[in-house]
Parts: sequence; C-alpha cells; structure tokens
Amino acid sequence: MKLFLIAPKWPEHSLWGQIYFRFPYLALTTLAALTDDDWDISIVDENAESLDFSDLPDLAAISVMTPLAKRAYEIADNFRANGVQVVLGGIHPTMMKDEASIHADAVVMGEAEEIWPQVLSDFKRGKLKPVYSFTDFCSLDGLRFPKRELLNRKAYFFINTIQTTRGCPFDCEFCSVTSFYGRTYRVRSVEEVVREVEHMGGGFVFFVDDNIVGKPAYAKELFRALVPLNVKWFSQASLSIVKDGELLELAQSSGCKGLFIGFESLSQEALRAMGKSANHVEEYKEAIKILHNHGIGIQGSFIFGTDQDNQSVFSDVLRFIEKTHIEAALFSVLTPFPGTRIQEVLSKQNRILHTDWEKYDMNHVVFRPKKMSPKQLQDGFNWAYKNLYGYRSIVKRLFPFTRSGLFYGIQNYGFRQAWKKTLNTNE
Ligand code: SF4
Repeated sequence: MKLFLIAPKWPEHSLWGQIYFRFPYLALTTLAALTDDDWDISIVDENAESLDFSDLPDLAAISVMTPLAKRAYEIADNFRANGVQVVLGGIHPTMMKDEASIHADAVVMGEAEEIWPQVLSDFKRGKLKPVYSFTDFCSLDGLRFPKRELLNRKAYFFINTIQTTRGCPFDCEFCSVTSFYGRTYRVRSVEEVVREVEHMGGGFVFFVDDNIVGKPAYAKELFRALVPLNVKWFSQASLSIVKDGELLELAQSSGCKGLFIGFESLSQEALRAMGKSANHVEEYKEAIKILHNHGIGIQGSFIFGTDQDNQSVFSDVLRFIEKTHIEAALFSVLTPFPGTRIQEVLSKQNRILHTDWEKYDMNHVVFRPKKMSPKQLQDGFNWAYKNLYGYRSIVKRLFPFTRSGLFYGIQNYGFRQAWKKTLNTNE
C-alpha cells in the first residue's frame, strides 16, 4: 500500500513561497512515524520538490494550514478524480470541517497521534469515516521519533526540527495556537527529548515549540540536560525569559543562539487589546540588551494593522528594530485566521474583506483596518519589509558583528532575496 504525506506549496505571492532556507514540517514526519511498516510512505513537500500526479498512491494525506488550503484542495480534487482517497488534516480542516469535507474522503480534526492509526486501519477495511475528531489533547509521553530519514535532506537548510512542548499558557487574540491546542501546555519527558536530540546526530537544532519557556521549571530541567550534548539551538520564547536570570543563563550555556520573540506592537494599548499584556513596551529595550548580552540573537515578530495602528507605525517599528539591533524580524499583517478570537471580532464588525485563503498568508490585507485604508496598510507593510531588508538596515542592525553575525547575515540576505521576489510576483 502506497501512502503520500503531502505539504502543499505556498502561493508564489507569499514571502514563504520564496524562502530558500526552509525546514521541514514536523507534522509529516510525525505521521510517518505513526504509520505501520507495511506502508510504502513518501513525504512530498511541494515547497521542496514537485508533486507528480502520474504517480498515484493508494491514500494521500495532506496537512493544511489556511494559506495553503486552496492548493491542498486542488491536490485533493486531482487525486480523487483519479480514484485516490484523500485525508485532510491540520489546523485549517480542524477549524473549517465542512469546507474541507467537500474535498476529502476523511477530515481529521485535532491532533493526529490518537486518530491516525484508526484512519489507516479503517482505510484498509474500506471503511473510512468522513470525519475523525479528537477533542482531547494527547499525552506527549512515549512519542515516536519523527521519520526524518524520509526527507530529502538536500532540499532543506536543516532538518533537525523537534518539539518539546505543545501549546502556550497565553491566549493572544490573533493566534491559532490556543484555538488548536486549547489553553493546555504539555511537556515531553526531558529524557525522551535528550534521546531524540542524540538520535539526530548533531548540527543545529530548532525546537519548534510555540513557547519553549512556558513552564520555566521544565525549561530549566531541559536546558540543564542539553548542556552536555553540546548543540546549538533556536526556538520561540516569550519575553518573560529575561525575568529569570537562572533560566537565561541555562539557555545560554545549553547552546541557545537565537530566539523568535513576539514583540508584536510598540503600543501597550494594542498589546492589551490583543491579550498580550505579559509584554511591557517600556521593558523591551532592556530585555533586548539582556538577550544580546547572553549571546542570544533575536528574530522579532511585529504585527501591523491593530486598531491602534496608524500610518506612523511602520517607520516607528523599523526605527525601533534598527536602534535596538534586533538581528532579524518578521512582519505580519494582522490576519483573522479561522477559529481565532480576532476573526470573531472582525467578523461581527463586518470588517473581513474576503476569505480568499491564499491571501491569508500574513503578507496581505484581508480586513478593513480602523485607522488606515486597506491599501495604506498594505503599502506600509511592503515599505517596512523593503526597508528592513535593505542593505542599509541590515548593516545597521547587525553591526557590530558578533559570532552569530554570519548566521544572521545569511538569514537577512535570504529574506532580502525572498522579499524582492515576493514584491515582483505581486506587481
Ligand atoms: S504568546 Fe505566542 S504562541 Fe502564545 S498565544 Fe500569544 S502569540 Fe500564540
């Protein structure tokens, strides 16, 4: 029996469709690990290689995020027209079951661990159900190691992605983490994480947790256990990490070289409105200094388009990033993803412009902002990205160069190229 596990490609008009230093989706290697050995499994990440429709599997499972939904449905429709049964899963089908059902033989809602073996067994018996729903949250004990050996290594910047926790204790109104995982924050056993890191055999490690320091006591135990492994790692963390000196020291000594930090806004009122009141704008500068003093580079996330933002937000954020020497940043247009609280709010206010999912890529304006027109928000967003990844800003931010300067130099150059291509595609 042949099984295809598929990640649809990002639209060309999206920054993510142009980035070359990509890493693989853990969802597919995790599904592969949950699949019995009698299946012949192929992982097809369309962002890394093309999908050959003349080679038909018995079953295709497609992992779907909102901006990839259109392409996922195209793939599903094509396969089904050729007699291949299709399963759709991931966050978008979980939130949009009825829509996904039109394109699938089965829709999987929720986490796959408990459901996937059942799906495969039902398929083999010819009894696939239209919907599989797992409303609980699975234990993270004894998870099988993702099957990274099925990946085309050459297609990725690095393949060592690993998860140690799931969920986030916070509940920001724009974020789909809580709508998918609830307000649970689950952790894996440190021994199991260590075994998996050892199994990966060195190199950079990216902990794809939504917030690796959500439970400081656990994070400390994990970081202590990582020290002897001598790895260099990156992850995502809340800014609260700087409040705990011991936690920060341990992060540094265990090999943390960079953190993705959600600053989101320079307006405290906007942070309060989006439910991110754990962030305090007046503490940002000092927090950044503390992280830098610990040799930890920062990839900052900023959102444009909140009800507090007017047209000055773009230059204010850019100036802040340059002044504080944040190594790299990701800008997002506020996006009302299905299942989020912001989607409910904007929908009630009749401010959502359309549901062309391809444009829900955080690079395009899909709602009516309060203090700008959609075009002003779009133009300001494009202006901010163009300037952030201009050579002047790159040099300003990365100077004086530190040891991790080379890594961030390459990353900035990659973003610069990707953004230029994105803009060309959108023109
Ligand atoms: S802190 Fe980050 S991961 Fe947690 S809810 Fe907010 S945006 Fe989502």
